[in-house]
Amino acid sequence: MKNIKFTPILLLLLTFLSACEKENEIIEAEVAESEEVQVLDASLTVTDEITTALKNNYFNTNDVTVVDFHLPDGSIQKRYQLEGDIALTKEQMQQFISLKGITSKNYYTNNLVNPRTLTIIGFTGSNFALSSKERTALQWAVNNYNRLNLGIRFTLTFGTNFQDKDMVVYNNELNNPGSSGGVAGFPSNGNPNKFIQIYGLGGFSTNANEHVITHEIGHSVGFRHSDWFSRQSCGGNNNEGVGSIGANPIPGTPEGFDPTSLMLACFAAATDGEFNSNDVIALNYLY
Ligand SMILES: [Zn+2]
Repeated sequence: MKNIKFTPILLLLLTFLSACEKENEIIEAEVAESEEVQVLDASLTVTDEITTALKNNYFNTNDVTVVDFHLPDGSIQKRYQLEGDIALTKEQMQQFISLKGITSKNYYTNNLVNPRTLTIIGFTGSNFALSSKERTALQWAVNNYNRLNLGIRFTLTFGTNFQDKDMVVYNNELNNPGSSGGVAGFPSNGNPNKFIQIYGLGGFSTNANEHVITHEIGHSVGFRHSDWFSRQSCGGNNNEGVGSIGANPIPGTPEGFDPTSLMLACFAAATDGEFNSNDVIALNYLY
């Protein structure tokens, strides 16, 4: 241990430091108070722990935000949104944190739908009703899955009584002015993500609408973005450099960029709305 000589300069410095400390205490107390107010206002925040957990589970973490998630009954919930169209509840985010260190293959086994027939409804009620084109596209999207004879099947109805259904597809243009796409989530406890929003697709073909709805149903039964690592389909090149393990470790499917996969993060207006052969391999592997 070294001996420290107390020179006048050092003493002066120590006095200054202790004054700073007191000031810091006051500032810290103020910060604590304002944080408490924030917690009451919005209970979701993007912490370092969350970003790390998402990275460990092979998500692109460039754009993780907290959003107002509008339900078709007009109520609003706070959710985390990532990769553009994936909304997660606080509980689901907590699951990813507890999955820390588990391989991405386990991710699937923990987040799939128990094989069965699922009820899906196209919403027709006020404010969030699907247009006629969107209803046709939803029928085509359901056909995309049912014709593959998977362990999950869908029975489709249209109406407003969504409470007892497994999934509901609705138009949320009201809260997404000027943008086009959809939002969904992931399965939990063997059940699919329930709420699928689409918006801004009126100017696109029925095939493009079919594409977006099929894609959002894909998330809802456990599919990840096939270009999560780069979001190349969105014109991005923000590869996070996470090895070659990939988020879709499915035998027979490419680990790199697959330009015609329906599970790319962004869609092209000219899409035919159909699965490519790799999507079909992946669906048959999981279900
Ligand atoms: Zn997506």
